[in-house]
Amino acid sequence: MRIVVVGSGAGGATAARELVLKGHDVFVLEAGRPFKPLSRRVRWVEPLRWTGVLGTERTIDKISSHIRTTRSSRDLVLVRGVTTGGTTTISCGNMVRAENGLKEIGLDLVQEFGEIEDMIGVAPIPRDRWRPATRKMFDGAEKMGLRPSPTPKAVDAEKCVACGLCEVGCATGAKWDSRRFLADFIANGGKIQTESKVRKVIVEKNRAAGVLVARGQSSEVVHADAVILAAGGIGTAEILRSSDLPVSDTLWADIVLTMGGQLEGARQLEEAPMVWYAKRDDYIISPYIDILSHWFHKPWRGVSMEDRVGVMVKLADVANGRVDAEGRVTKEVTARDRERLDEGLSLARSIMETAGVKGPFVEGMLNGGHLGGTVPLAKGDVPLMRPSTLPEDLWVADLSLVPKSQGLPTMLTAAAISLRVARIVVERR
Ligand SMILES: Cc1cc2nc3c(=O)[nH]c(=O)nc-3n(C[C@H](O)[C@H](O)[C@H](O)COP(=O)(O)OP(=O)(O)OC[C@H]3O[C@@H](n4cnc5c(N)ncnc54)[C@H](O)[C@@H]3O)c2cc1C
Repeated sequence: MRIVVVGSGAGGATAARELVLKGHDVFVLEAGRPFKPLSRRVRWVEPLRWTGVLGTERTIDKISSHIRTTRSSRDLVLVRGVTTGGTTTISCGNMVRAENGLKEIGLDLVQEFGEIEDMIGVAPIPRDRWRPATRKMFDGAEKMGLRPSPTPKAVDAEKCVACGLCEVGCATGAKWDSRRFLADFIANGGKIQTESKVRKVIVEKNRAAGVLVARGQSSEVVHADAVILAAGGIGTAEILRSSDLPVSDTLWADIVLTMGGQLEGARQLEEAPMVWYAKRDDYIISPYIDILSHWFHKPWRGVSMEDRVGVMVKLADVANGRVDAEGRVTKEVTARDRERLDEGLSLARSIMETAGVKGPFVEGMLNGGHLGGTVPLAKGDVPLMRPSTLPEDLWVADLSLVPKSQGLPTMLTAAAISLRVARIVVERR
C-alpha cells in the first residue's frame, strides 16, 4: 500500500516517520527546496537596515526563499516556512504542550507529547546563558506576580552559539527541526520529492486516489491508496479548497506583537530567543528581539541591535481567517484581539522597566506564524482523528485539525496530533 504525505513540517515529518517505521511505502511531496540556514549571511543586512532600503517584510522572502510572508490584512503579516522541515526550520525551538480547546473535544495527547519530547530531548536554556537584562526581567516578572518559568527548548545548549537568529535557521544544528524526523524516515526507506507543490487531491468514488502535483511548468498525477495532508494551516486549506472539499473559515495564527525598548549594551540577540515565558489567560509574555520588526518596521529603525530590548506578547487570537484556492489569506485583527494585546503590552513594558530598560517604547509589527484551524476536529471526529467531511482515505495531520488558537508554541502539538493520526491510519490498514 502506498501512502502519500504532503508537506514535511512538524506534522508531515512526524507522520511519515511513523508510517515508514511501521512498514508502509511512504512518499513525501514537499513544495519547497531543501532547507539551508541563512544565519551566516545576515550580517550584511544590518547596515542596509539603517538606510531603509530593505523595504517591507516581503524582502525576507527574497533573502531566504524558504520563508514566505503574506499580509492577511493591512496590519497583519503571516509567516511560514516552505522548505524541507516546514516552519520548524525557522522556529525559536520552544517546545510546550499547547492543548487549548482539545479537552472540549475529548482529545488527550499526553502520551504523544511525552513520546515526542523523549525523542527530541527538551530542556530549558540554563539561566547563566541568559543576558543580564533578561535575568532582571525574569526577576521583575516574578515580583509582579506573573510566575514566569524557563521555556522548555528543543535546543542543545552545548552546541548553541547564542547567535539569536533561530528564525532564519540554525547554522550549528543545535536546534531541533523536523528534518531530523525526515532523516529517520529516509534511513528507513522513505522517499521524498522536493519542489513538488500538490495542487489538489484526486477523489474517485468518494475515496482519495492520489494527488495532482506541479513540477516546474508541468504537472503529474501521483497515485496512492491513502493521502495525508500536512501542508500546514494555509497549505492544507489551499489544497482542499482547490479540490472542492470543505474548508472552515476559522484560520488562527497566534498573533505576536513585540514591545521594543532600549538599554545600552543589552545585546539581547546574544541569547536564545524566548528563554522564559509568563502565561496569562489567552497570551504569553516572553523576552524576544523581533527580527521582522527590527529589519522592516520603521518605528524600530533608530536603535541598533546592540541596544534594542524586546518583550513579546503571543496571543490566542480569534479564529477568523479564510484561505482561498490560491492560498491567499484574509484575516483581520479583531477588537478583542487588540484589547488583549494592549493588556499584554502594558505588562511587557512594566517588566522591561523593572530591568532599567528605557523608552521610547515602540510596538513592532503584528505577525503570526502558528497557522491552524482550517479543518477543525469536532468531538465526534476524535476516535478516528478524521473530520467527517473528508472522503475516505484522505487524512489531515497538521495544525489545521486544531480548533482553537493556542497563544503558545505549537510544534509539539502539530507533531503529537500527527503521530496520533498516523497510528490510526496504521490500525485501519
Ligand atoms: C518565526 C516562527 C517561529 C516559530 N517558533 C516556534 C517555536 O519556537 N516553537 C513552536 O512550537 N512553534 C513555533 N512556530 C510555529 C511552528 O513552527 C508551527 O506551528 C509548526 O511548524 C506547524 O506545523 P505544521 O506541520 O502544521 O506546518 P509546517 O511546519 O508549516 O509544515 C507544512 C509543510 O507543508 C509544505 N507545503 C505547503 N503547501 C504545500 C503543497 N501545496 N504541496 C506540498 N507541500 C506543501 C511546506 O513547505 C511545509 O514543509 C514558529 C513559527 C514561526 C513562523
